[in-house]
Amino acid sequence: MEVPNQFYFRDKSRNIDVFIKREDLIHPFVSGNKFRKLKYNLLHAKAENYSKLLTFGGAFSNHIAAVAFAGKENGFETIGIIRGEELVNKIQENPTLKFAQDCGMQLYFVTRDDYQEKTKPNFLNKLEKIHGSFYLIPEGGTNNLAIKGCQEIIVSSDNEFNFVCCAVGTGGTISGICNSVFPNQKVLGFTALKGGFLKEDICKFATNSNWELIEEYHFGGYGKVNQELVAFLNQKYNDTNIPLDPVYTGKMMFGILDLIQKNYFPDGSRILAIHTGGIQGIAGMNMKLESKNLSIIQL
Ligand SMILES: *Cc1c(COP(=O)(O)O)cnc(C)c1O
Repeated sequence: MEVPNQFYFRDKSRNIDVFIKREDLIHPFVSGNKFRKLKYNLLHAKAENYSKLLTFGGAFSNHIAAVAFAGKENGFETIGIIRGEELVNKIQENPTLKFAQDCGMQLYFVTRDDYQEKTKPNFLNKLEKIHGSFYLIPEGGTNNLAIKGCQEIIVSSDNEFNFVCCAVGTGGTISGICNSVFPNQKVLGFTALKGGFLKEDICKFATNSNWELIEEYHFGGYGKVNQELVAFLNQKYNDTNIPLDPVYTGKMMFGILDLIQKNYFPDGSRILAIHTGGIQGIAGMNMKLESKNLSIIQL
């Protein structure tokens, strides 16, 4: 499946062009990299005769929304283990959780301590006793089959670019991209989290060393926004008609344009930014912004 690369920004004086790969348009509900990551996992789960998918996520997770919809569309039952017990009574007011539940996902809320156990055999055994056998999709969807799917983001006509940029959460998407870019291309990953063990995870999956992490544009941490970022998102949406999400792609694009201003990129650079999706998260973010009487993200 191929999506268009659209023109996004030009620095005329330095002959730098930014194009955006509209992976957000790949599916109306399973957007961007989550579609790529699920593709081979769902085929595998089907081939192995699983009827149930189980996965993990936070209250506004793009991954939870994607698994809920893709599961329904492909005939799987879905179970979402959600971080934060306090959310159990808030499903109706949380757009992501409500969407997931409306897709038929069964939601189970666990404490933050229990959530930390999500990769441990004991915890998974306990889940299996409760829910029966299931196909496990890790938090954020990152595993070998997800990397295989993300390798399909870059296509042969993308070889005209010098830089490929993407947002980084668990590192699965950038790993797939690193494995499939052309030898002359450099991959820049804009981290959506402050700190973390991303480098090791990327090294585990990426077969190349053609990448670099840019860690200066997380705006205080995962899911954190400020009024400068919100103003940027609204300005760019107004200019381009292409929506960006506040957690991943908005921070990446802010970073790319800031780095152009700071002369990070050589003159004549051609930059391809991957729009990994995440637009479903805007409603939840706006809820939080409204509760603090801050201006919201236009859509
Ligand atoms: C999940 C997500 C990412 C991060 O992808 P990883 O493979 O976890 O690094 C980036 N952008 C969007 C929109 C996402 O939903």
